[in-house]
Amino acid sequence: MANVANIPVWRDIGAAPHPAASLQQAPLVIVGAGPVGLAMALDLGRRGHPVVLLAQLDFVAAGSKAICFAKRSLDIFDRLGVGDAMVEKGVVWNVGKVFWGNREEPVFQFDMLPVKNQKRPGFINIQQYHVEDRLIDALGALPNVDLRWGHRLGGVETHADGVRVTVETAEGSYRIDAEWLIACDGSRSAVRDALGLDFEGRVFEDNFLIADVKMKGDRPSERWFWFDPPFNPGQSALMHKQPDDVWRLDFQLGWNIDREAAVKPENVDPLVRAMLGDDVEYEPEWYSVYTFQCRRMARFVHGRVVFAGDSAHLVSPFGARGCNGGLADVDNLGWKLDLILKGEAGAVLLESYDTEAIAIADENILNSSRSTDFMTPKTAASSAYRDAVLELANELPFARPFVNSGRLSTAVALPASPLNTPDADDWRGAGIAPGFPALDAPLGTGWLLESLGAGFTLIADGWADGATAAAADGFALIEPGTGDDVLRARYAIEPGTACLVRPDHYVCARWRHPDADAVRAAIARAKGKEL
Ligand SMILES: Cc1cc2nc3c(=O)[nH]c(=O)nc-3n(C[C@H](O)[C@H](O)[C@H](O)COP(=O)(O)OP(=O)(O)OC[C@H]3O[C@@H](n4cnc5c(N)ncnc54)[C@H](O)[C@@H]3O)c2cc1C
Repeated sequence: MANVANIPVWRDIGAAPHPAASLQQAPLVIVGAGPVGLAMALDLGRRGHPVVLLAQLDFVAAGSKAICFAKRSLDIFDRLGVGDAMVEKGVVWNVGKVFWGNREEPVFQFDMLPVKNQKRPGFINIQQYHVEDRLIDALGALPNVDLRWGHRLGGVETHADGVRVTVETAEGSYRIDAEWLIACDGSRSAVRDALGLDFEGRVFEDNFLIADVKMKGDRPSERWFWFDPPFNPGQSALMHKQPDDVWRLDFQLGWNIDREAAVKPENVDPLVRAMLGDDVEYEPEWYSVYTFQCRRMARFVHGRVVFAGDSAHLVSPFGARGCNGGLADVDNLGWKLDLILKGEAGAVLLESYDTEAIAIADENILNSSRSTDFMTPKTAASSAYRDAVLELANELPFARPFVNSGRLSTAVALPASPLNTPDADDWRGAGIAPGFPALDAPLGTGWLLESLGAGFTLIADGWADGATAAAADGFALIEPGTGDDVLRARYAIEPGTACLVRPDHYVCARWRHPDADAVRAAIARAKGKEL
């Protein structure tokens, strides 16, 4: 089964044996061992569920895909126990600079961590295969996750209570009857095809060259983006530092090009030298040309089959919303499926995955499409608009928000979610409203987000019945200490107030004066009791 499509190998693992029984049972099958499938298996595996994870390849693929991982994903990795491993390997950055034409100074710069005093940085850069490696290592510690390398999903039959999947290996095929199937099998999803489903959205007519090159240098760990630079006139370009002295250079090429010729070293070299200087010493690491789409499925939940990551939605790489968006799916789906598998919530809770994950995907698609339209204007009017914005941004702060070089991935708010309990008290715009992601803050000698567990948590100050209610209703309680001023300010916490946080670290309710019945009702609503 290995290397069915001549995909380059990063780490060889070897195929898992073909099972003895030709028909197996499993509560949960996940298809695809990309970053999303691996993280999904880690989430549900850490919650104690038996998971079968099917990987059509028997190796970790090399090549160059995602490199930019946003703070929200680092927070998710922390919850999955792999945050430190990612950050230790990654290149930390917060600052992005936008250049235009032949001006040496940026016309605009931004900070991806405008709110300081948080555990994690705005972004790290780390190659996707390093991310996959670290997720695989963490899965190795979970005997309940059966990661089957070289086992390709060949077909799916759905019925009311589950699915029957056909799996192909080098030694033949076998079947699994599963209660749930999570499709994380990427943009060409075999599961999507088997169900006769498709994407809706736009395809962008442009080509971009990735030249990942290895070189020593003292350039800063910042995101540098150019509109119409002298080394790639009329087009855009991007430069990012990665671990191991690798640099991602990304050049817009236009639509009508010879894609095979574009990746030949003799054609890449002049672009690299024009960008970095004639005297630069570098080695090619990876050259490829990519195009992109901004599309999603109409629904992500189809009975007992749930889609996550690229199998459900696709965006342009500008904004780093693809993999980061897929990890948001994992975050949203993991706790809901956990409650359903444990019998603490009905399958109807997945309707909220459908609406929330689609809301997140739509925001990612919207931002990604806008970035792409701004960066690659296709009409004289949109070119004139872009140039005017860049000209003004240089001098005038009001124009800077209009510069769109790829508005980068951040956590998406879900204010309209049916799982929220709307505010009944007057908060005068302060704190964090239901539907918004919890914001990190120092807590004692550590951090708030790392103290939130895998279940519901109430941040409460001076609520006398808190401990009793927490024990009775199975939520964790965090009581800020006297020195936790930043946390108090961020959540508008005064004596008596309480703020309820979901297992995926979204605020879902808050009170000036909580009582146990109100907290219990809010948890029930967040578990889908009113859907
Ligand atoms: C040039 C480029 C740059 C990018 N940069 C970024 C970035 O900086 N940040 C970001 O967030 N995103 C970025 N992305 C997007 C990111 O790479 C994807 O969103 C991400 O790979 C999606 O992960 P996934 O697990 O959903 O799918 P994939 O990574 O595609 O994984 C799917 C897995 O399923 C397996 N599979 C497929 N079919 C079967 C089958 N039938 N049976 C079993 N297994 C199967 C595949 O072998 C694969 O391992 C970039 C993409 C590109 C192309």
